Order: sequence, then structure tokens, then C-alpha cells
Amino acid sequence: MELLRKLEILADAAKYDASCASSGTEMRDSRDGKGLGSTSPGMGICHSYAPDGRCISLLKILLTNACNFDCLYCVNRASSNVARARFTVDEVVKLTIDFYRRNYIEGLFLSSGIIRSPDYTMEQVVSVARKLREEYRFRGYIHLKTIPEADEALIAEAGKYADRLSINIETPLEASLTMLAPEKDQRAIRRTMGRLRLKLDETAEAKKTARRARPPRFAPAGQSTQMIIGADQANDRIILSTSSNLYGAYKLKRVYYSAFSPIPDASRALPLQAPPLVREHRLYQADWLMRFYGFEADEIVEENEGMLPLDIDPKLAWALRHRDRFPLDINTASREELLRVPGFGTRTVQRILATRRTTTIRFADLARLNVIRNKALPFIVLSDHRPQPSLLDGAGLAARLRPKPQQLGFGF
Ligand code: SF4
Repeated sequence: MELLRKLEILADAAKYDASCASSGTEMRDSRDGKGLGSTSPGMGICHSYAPDGRCISLLKILLTNACNFDCLYCVNRASSNVARARFTVDEVVKLTIDFYRRNYIEGLFLSSGIIRSPDYTMEQVVSVARKLREEYRFRGYIHLKTIPEADEALIAEAGKYADRLSINIETPLEASLTMLAPEKDQRAIRRTMGRLRLKLDETAEAKKTARRARPPRFAPAGQSTQMIIGADQANDRIILSTSSNLYGAYKLKRVYYSAFSPIPDASRALPLQAPPLVREHRLYQADWLMRFYGFEADEIVEENEGMLPLDIDPKLAWALRHRDRFPLDINTASREELLRVPGFGTRTVQRILATRRTTTIRFADLARLNVIRNKALPFIVLSDHRPQPSLLDGAGLAARLRPKPQQLGFGF
């Protein structure tokens, strides 16, 4: 099969994986004349697109889309009627280097269907990274998808060459994984995540204590995972509590949420329709609240609701449910309280804290502080602003803050 045709098949087969943002690794470049590539932003960007249009700037491919497993939600499952292809290790290396030199990409995201055995497949994936790093001195970003059942030594070797390793948890509920991907074992996935965490912790510790020699490198951009949303009955509360557990137990850098896309010849166990994309967006916002705004998963979605509202963002929804905590005087409130005000981002809060050290914040300062005024004003007190109690407590506040309905285009 021609290389171009393989690329067509194996890039298309990889598009369902959303977990490949390239943030958070160490900075490397080749301006010293040694090696090739860089992880600096803006260098060698290409655009891969997930089916919903998200832009991903990596060469994102599978080594092969043949697979022994039969995960019902996956287009590459053994029983799927799709064209199959397989790259050799040298072909992936050549493509990466050629694309890099042409400035199409800033790195490689490599995953694979499982062929022969998990160890064999993992060895092939690691060989690509080894060759890129050792023979071509490639210094660009490498993200390798890890096969949980593979031998520990292979996974450790993957970490030596990759910037980021990821293992997909796939579904928030273990019971759903058993039903949708019977060959996968969530306990094995978590065990491997646990081993990665140990290795990452050891490397971080060694870096702190190293006097002269650099400790061996291990996945400097950490580990991440992906959860499929909408393929099972898990509600947003369950999804967020699973994420919170994953962040806490395995120190993941990111949990990616990928709205389930209906695939050709899908099993009847799967829903016929994809969930609304805005659900994925709200989950990312909620995830952000857990990681940077001090929210706990179970505060974000009420137990009796189960789902995030789609029409307003989760922080605003939380504030509307907890009006008794507002209005907050932004000249005296703590950082933790300020982070909970709708319309305040983390930088805005930093600016507020810095500004109020020297002066009292007034209404006219809000624009400079980057406050989203229409969202924030009902919830805050300034030296020259106090919202009417009837506004904050009134039934009309939620409607006032909801985005106005928009007429969709007619296409003419
Ligand atoms: S193991 Fe991976 S590639 Fe194979 S069917 Fe399952 S999800 Fe798809």
C-alpha cells in the first residue's frame, strides 16, 4: 500500500482521540545546532482536526488501525468494516521528520490498535520514539498512547522518550467498560496509571535532590487520559467525580472529555446520537473549576440534578444556587471567595489582589481588571456599587444572565 494511502487511513482512524494537547512539557530547541526540532510554541505547526472541528497541532496517527480488541465504541474494533493499514516504524519516523522539516507539525501523537500482543504493539510504538530521539535527535514533542497491559519495562522506556504518556480510562463507570470493551480491564488501566505516577514522583524527587548529574528523564509533560462522554448512562456528576478521583490518585495533567461520535455499523448497545458538543464544553469548564478555582466535584453538580446546565457556565450556575454567599465586597474578600465570583478569571483575581493593596477598587476599575461586568455586577460590592437586593434575590436574575437566543443562519 502506498504511504499516502496509509496516511489517509491512519490519520483518519486517529481523529477520535482528543487527548493530545501539547502543553506543559519542558522547553527544548535545537538552536545549538545539535538535534532537530523544538517544543517552543509556534514552531512547525500543522492542523489535525477532530470530527467536531477542534484543531490539534501534531502529526496525529495510529501505527495501525488493525486491532485484536472489539471495543464497541471504536471504529477500529476487530469487527469493524473499515479499510486497514499499518505503518512500519521507519515510515512513521520518516513522516514525522519530513513533516517537521516542512514546518507542518510541532510534534507527534502516536497511538495504535493492539496487534499480536500488547507487548509487541507497545514495543513498536516505543521503537518509533527511540529512533526519533536517538537516531534523528528529534527534540519536538512526542505523545505516546500507552497500552495498559504492556510490560512495565516497556512503559518505563516509553517515558524515557516521550514528553507525555496517556492511557485512556475510556468510560467513567467500570461497569460500562466491562459492557462496551470486555477485553479491557479498568483495574489494569488504573494500575498502570499508578505506576506512571510513582515513576513521575521519583523523577521529580530525583530532580530536586540531584547535585550534578541530571536524573533520567521520564515524561516531563506527565500523564493524561480521555473519557468518552455520552456512550453510557454516566451523568456529569459521575464524570466529574471520576475525574476528581483521577487527578487526586494519579496526579494527571489533564482529563480530556470526548463526546461520543456515532460510528458506522455501531452496536445496538450504543446511543444513536452524539451528545450535544456543548456538554463536552461545560465539562471542560467544570474541570477547570476543580483544577484552578478550588471547587469540589460534588459542589459543581447538585446531587439531585446530575447534569450541568447547558445554557449557562457551571460557575454562574453554582453562584445562582448559592446567592446567600453574595454580594461579596471585592475590596475585602479572600482569594478563595473571589475565585467563585462569576466573571472573574484567575488572572482577574490576581489583579484585584494586587490592586487593592494600594487602592480601593471602584466601578471604573473593572474594565482594566478584565472583569466580565454583566456577569459579575449582581454578585459584587465596590466602594461605589452595591447590587439591589431585589436583583440578587429576584427570580429574574438567571434569565437576565442567560445568553439571549440567537437566530441560526438560514443558509441563504
Ligand atoms: S483497543 Fe483501542 S483501537 Fe482497539 S478496539 Fe479498543 S479502543 Fe479501538
